[in-house]
Amino acid sequence: MSATEIRNELCKYARKTVSNKLVVGPGGNLSARHEGKMYLSPSGFALDEIAPEQWVEVDIESGDITDIGLRPSSEVLMHLYAYRANPSIGAIVHTHPPYCIAFTLVEQELPVMFPDQAALVGTTTYVPYVLPTTDRLADAVVAKVNDYSTILLGNHGLVTTGRNLREAYYRTEVVEESAKIWLIASAIKTPKALTDAEYKEIASLESEAYRIELLQKMK
Ligand SMILES: [Zn+2]
Repeated sequence: MSATEIRNELCKYARKTVSNKLVVGPGGNLSARHEGKMYLSPSGFALDEIAPEQWVEVDIESGDITDIGLRPSSEVLMHLYAYRANPSIGAIVHTHPPYCIAFTLVEQELPVMFPDQAALVGTTTYVPYVLPTTDRLADAVVAKVNDYSTILLGNHGLVTTGRNLREAYYRTEVVEESAKIWLIASAIKTPKALTDAEYKEIASLESEAYRIELLQKMK
């Protein structure tokens, strides 16, 4: 994939985050890694208003920003540190999905409820509220990125990572849908999550093959 293709992919998934109401206004930020650089949403834009050439190129090792007259997202450190900490991360999606945020106000760890959640996402972790845009938030997220691909941010939102944008993006959708269903069920009584045995059974399937099959279906 070329840098141009990465920029076009970023536009595609940025539009999906807005059309699927995973962010509102200028909230959220997306990035993808390509050949030692990351391409990150610029500051002050709604995600669906970013043109392909407006994604800000940042050198992952040095942190040098290619000057195109735009500032990178204020969460630049969170993205930068995550790529440095985990070489298998190819893309990062940070959104403010309403059910995830509601969930963080009353709960912390999101239970695993569904087979596709178990296979595509696994366990979702939680970081208590930290002031956004700070290196404290970046440090808190980075402490989790080698063990989890989905991180709930207390009173704030969600960060998902993946080997590519598609994987990171669909993890966001799956976690948001799971949080939504949990909240609906918990209006009636305490919801039933998958048991450890049920979760392990999914993990013992050809889980990689299952995950790929699910991703194919989600086109
Ligand atoms: Zn945010």
